[in-house]
Amino acid sequence: MAPSRSQARGQGCDRGNPQRRGSATRGSAAALLRLDPAEIRWFRRRLLRWYRKYARPWPWRASANSYHVWVAEVMLQQTRVEVVAKAFPRFLARFPSVADLALAPLENVLAVWSGLGYYTRARNLHRAAQWLWKHGYREFPREPSLARALPGVGPYTVAAVLSIAYNQRLAAVDANVRRVLGRVTGNPSATKNGKLAQAIAVALLDPHAPGDWNQALMELGQRLCIPRTPQCPACPWQPRCATARSSVALRIAAPRRRGPGKSPIELVADLVFDTRGRIVVERGVFPYLRHLWVPVLHEAQASAAGLAPSRGQSLGTFRHAIGKRQFRVSVYLRKLSNQKATRFLHDVPAPGERRLVTPKELEHLGRSSLLLKSWQLWVRQLARGGVAFSEANQ
Ligand code: SF4
Repeated sequence: MAPSRSQARGQGCDRGNPQRRGSATRGSAAALLRLDPAEIRWFRRRLLRWYRKYARPWPWRASANSYHVWVAEVMLQQTRVEVVAKAFPRFLARFPSVADLALAPLENVLAVWSGLGYYTRARNLHRAAQWLWKHGYREFPREPSLARALPGVGPYTVAAVLSIAYNQRLAAVDANVRRVLGRVTGNPSATKNGKLAQAIAVALLDPHAPGDWNQALMELGQRLCIPRTPQCPACPWQPRCATARSSVALRIAAPRRRGPGKSPIELVADLVFDTRGRIVVERGVFPYLRHLWVPVLHEAQASAAGLAPSRGQSLGTFRHAIGKRQFRVSVYLRKLSNQKATRFLHDVPAPGERRLVTPKELEHLGRSSLLLKSWQLWVRQLARGGVAFSEANQ
């Protein structure tokens, strides 16, 4: 049975809560749902019972600490939950409180964020922690309007954190929740119309356990009411779900099948070493990741046209995605004398910078997973004995 945060806390306060103030909206949504109070209670009871029995024990569910909940919600916005499950404890071990995060250099925060992608989230989290620390806050603010003003914090994050950490009666509505609500009410507009979905979510929200309720809806959307093939027989709402009663409605919010995607951008990544085993890394040059350290990168066309340094020993290729952009990266190993490596450091297009770092120092840099994947190819080749790591690579 999943830990219930609401059971671990006292009743929260929802004064000043904009969703609470909209009782008219709540009433009209209830009318829209054509549900009487007993039916609404049925939906609440069934979902919470299912959630408390089947919720997955993710690390962030063990605590109602507002800082922990906030960090988890930011990580979960654009990263798969299994990846976050590994990164979350690592991040908290390094930055256990708002103060630790606020006082850390951004470089260290980006380094620990490595592997989660979408680094703007890490920068916003860091800026928000600095603002809170400077203004005397030691936890995520309880006032929705203040929380909403923090960098990177939108209405969804506010509702999720305040309901889970402080038991405030706020409905958290994202695309997953909109899909569930559209299906259960048989109202496809709710999947696209944010205001309608919000009104339905507020009407259904369990006032006694808003945090668990929000998490339960998200869990339902992630596990059973999934985009293409909803698992209705296992769903606690199946007996009264409008979609489950109509095979036509199953198409509500199913994503359109994508046609063949664009071909990936071809990149060349040079792993450039000096004779002391230090590697050259750069940042500020690659337009999609200006703030992170990457290997020396060129577009493959520039490399083929002789506009980039000659290639060394091939280590292999991998695919990489940054947002919606797809890349195919060919990795090459090059070795330079210490003197040439030092000159190479200064041969970087503005406004970029290059550094020579040891493998140990590399671990503490805010580096892209593109650098990690290139590095792994090199390590794999080393293990196979397939790297001729000699002056021939110069
Ligand atoms: S019964 Fe099916 S369509 Fe309805 S909410 Fe559950 S999983 Fe979604």
